[in-house]
Amino acid sequence: MRRYSAFAIVREALRHHSGWERAWTAPAPKPCYDVIIVGAGGHGLATAYYLGKIHKITNVAVIEKGWLGGGNTGRNTTIIRSNYLQDPSAAIYEKARALYETLSQDLNYNVMFSPRGVIMLAQTEHEVRGYRRTAHANALQGVQTAFISPERVRELCPIIALDGPRYPVLGGLWQARGGTARHDAVAWGYARACSAMGMDIIQQCAVTGIRSRNGQVTGVETTQGAIACARLGIVVAGHSGVLADMAGFRLPIESVALQALVSEPIKPCMDVVVMANTVHGYMSQSDKGEMVIGGGADGYNTYAQRGSFHHIEDTVRALIETFPMISRLKMLRHWGGIVDMTGDRSPIISKTPLGNCFINCGWGTGGFKAIPGSGWAMAELMARGTSDLAGPFALDRFRAGRFIDESVAAGVAH
Ligand SMILES: Cc1cc2nc3c(=O)[nH]c(=O)nc-3n(C[C@H](O)[C@H](O)[C@H](O)COP(=O)(O)OP(=O)(O)OC[C@H]3O[C@@H](n4cnc5c(N)ncnc54)[C@H](O)[C@@H]3O)c2cc1C
Repeated sequence: MRRYSAFAIVREALRHHSGWERAWTAPAPKPCYDVIIVGAGGHGLATAYYLGKIHKITNVAVIEKGWLGGGNTGRNTTIIRSNYLQDPSAAIYEKARALYETLSQDLNYNVMFSPRGVIMLAQTEHEVRGYRRTAHANALQGVQTAFISPERVRELCPIIALDGPRYPVLGGLWQARGGTARHDAVAWGYARACSAMGMDIIQQCAVTGIRSRNGQVTGVETTQGAIACARLGIVVAGHSGVLADMAGFRLPIESVALQALVSEPIKPCMDVVVMANTVHGYMSQSDKGEMVIGGGADGYNTYAQRGSFHHIEDTVRALIETFPMISRLKMLRHWGGIVDMTGDRSPIISKTPLGNCFINCGWGTGGFKAIPGSGWAMAELMARGTSDLAGPFALDRFRAGRFIDESVAAGVAH
């Protein structure tokens, strides 16, 4: 596959853009692969990419029932940060954040990583204590964060009302190298790199069954026929329980709809990401000028991939207290994605009761930021059978009671 470069742009401009290749191929499934990954979201594609790049396993198919990046990867609010409390979380999220720093160069695809900085507002004394504690934990973990004063918050984000009617801003947890990236581009960049390594990305192909013999996985049944494989990775976010059922085991996962919206585009007014967890809303401004606003999850389990009016009202009503200027904006779009929530709000990257079948799920409301680190760890686990990064996130932690409690850092906003 030809590299993208300034030279290529000039060359194609002179040739009336007749020489661009397809970014990825659209092959028919082969009868057999070394590895099948189910789910062409960011985590599935990143797993395939690092299997090829690091472990030189390239006889890989990524099977997607819709279009690649059409699940939560293309529906999130793109916040990237690694300021988690527990050591295993900080390790995997910081690995991901560090990989994001050079992802555009690694993939030869501009993922528009923008380390503009993330502030998590402290709006109660309880949050002040919590975020100070997280800043200390981050210092020990080598993650660069700081607890900042209200005045510094206003310097970084002048449109904030520090003395809101219910919750004044008492400070914030600041991660200067957190930020955003273009979510579609992350999926597209990984897909293009996988295709360039000879992997097959098979879209519009749903996995409908999992085949096994003597406790070992042997392949999958799909809407395009049966396909054999030596190893299987299930990376389907909100549909993890469905796939686990096909493989014959149960997961401690609930699927709920998480919602977001964007405003009409306006002139640049905010060049950081702000999360207000007490009132429950978070906001950044996209490169197009839209205010990207994340809201809450529905209070009941569902596979309905859509938004609802009461969430728009709740989220915007809460955020207006801290950002009064958004009261005059019009909403442009609103949507939902099915997120996969575990009880301790940490992911599962694990072997499963079915031999050679692995699962990566439970990223819930906050897995976009983790895509490169998660793919790295899952690839290592699938290739070598063990991974230091993935180890603490094994499925058996729920039986053993080794929870990685991130309900404060990860339970709601992202
Ligand atoms: C509104 C919203 C806002 C969010 N904001 C943030 C944020 O700001 N920051 C952050 O870090 N995270 C955020 N997240 C979470 C983040 O989007 C997810 O954790 C992450 O994208 C999950 O990626 P994935 O690859 O695991 O899943 P997905 O992108 O959902 O990919 C899974 C794929 O599996 C496919 N699939 C399912 N069943 C089958 C089957 N039977 N056969 C074949 N394919 C199948 C699906 O079609 C889908 O494409 C947000 C999520 C939502 C919904």
